[in-house]
Amino acid sequence: MNKEFNLNELVRKNILALKPYSSARNEYAGKTARVCIDANENPFDTNINRYPDPLQLELKSLIAPMKGVRESQIFFGNGSDEAIDLVYRVFCEPRLDNVVAIDPTYGMYEVCANINDVEYRKVQLDEHYQFKAVDLLNACDNHTKAIFICSPNNPTGNDLQREEMEKLLEQFKGIVVIDEAYSDFSQQRPFRTEIDKYPNLIVFNTFSKAWGSAAIRLGMAFASEEIIGYYNKVKYPYNVNKLTQQQAKEVLANSAEMHKQLVLVLEERQTLMKAFSELPICCQVYPSDANFFLAKVTDANRIYSYLVDRGIIVRNRNRITLCNNCLRITIGTKQDNTELLSALRQYKQ
Ligand SMILES: *Cc1c(COP(=O)(O)O)cnc(C)c1O
Repeated sequence: MNKEFNLNELVRKNILALKPYSSARNEYAGKTARVCIDANENPFDTNINRYPDPLQLELKSLIAPMKGVRESQIFFGNGSDEAIDLVYRVFCEPRLDNVVAIDPTYGMYEVCANINDVEYRKVQLDEHYQFKAVDLLNACDNHTKAIFICSPNNPTGNDLQREEMEKLLEQFKGIVVIDEAYSDFSQQRPFRTEIDKYPNLIVFNTFSKAWGSAAIRLGMAFASEEIIGYYNKVKYPYNVNKLTQQQAKEVLANSAEMHKQLVLVLEERQTLMKAFSELPICCQVYPSDANFFLAKVTDANRIYSYLVDRGIIVRNRNRITLCNNCLRITIGTKQDNTELLSALRQYKQ
């Protein structure tokens, strides 16, 4: 492993050398123009006839104070999916470099590794769904560019131990990605406010979960200005469309509504998990710091199909590492949760 963190040594050579596409909106970004005839757009105003801001600066100015970061430390992508993919496209040389991740975790890290032809090394969590930094570090070699951590983790639902994540950030000289898609539901202090302390940290957030906006496809990465600079160099020029930017501003203006919903989801989480744990089909409910929980049941496949037949869809995680006979259940509305419970009470073993 490299001894010191050196960002430019981690970035792929072709990306270091890349001369990025320079769009019309890059070359003239001012707001005072009277006549815009530089981008071959249709000149008739329909709200969507102009290209959007390629760097989403207005949105960044709204998000920065909320998230406790500077505007230059923010990347917006077409969902977190884009932010995940860019880890590979910026840092990982196909067929040469590798990444290390906990197992089980969110499936997109591995899918993006496969698409980019980058080796994906898995380190199994322990029986409490926790990891030790040393085990992940032992799986690394000179070609390990990034370690993926997800906390609260999907599909297990739990916060990972902060101390172990801190050890990774201090000891690993590559990129440490911490996906905090579910941090709004957790009591743990988020890592996104520590990006000044850790130059190798990238944190993901999303509009898809607590912010109730999965349909607009808006993901965020927070990292040093230097890392965000490489992200901006590689991303599609207009990767976040204008409708998404406008809708996101509206969502932010209504943040009180989001907080109300968050409180309701957290209350329902407690109620549903307790009721679920008392069902005859339930073997174990695992602790949750997210808007879903994982539960071990008597027969996950059969119960999953039984629920499907009643129009209730949960996530069957039976075939996932350490999730034998487990279902992952998102906290729904009070009515959704009542329907789930009453269907399961009628289930005949
Ligand atoms: C749902 C989820 C996301 C969000 O992905 P988007 O592409 O932003 O919708 C990110 N990470 C994890 C672990 C998730 O479960």
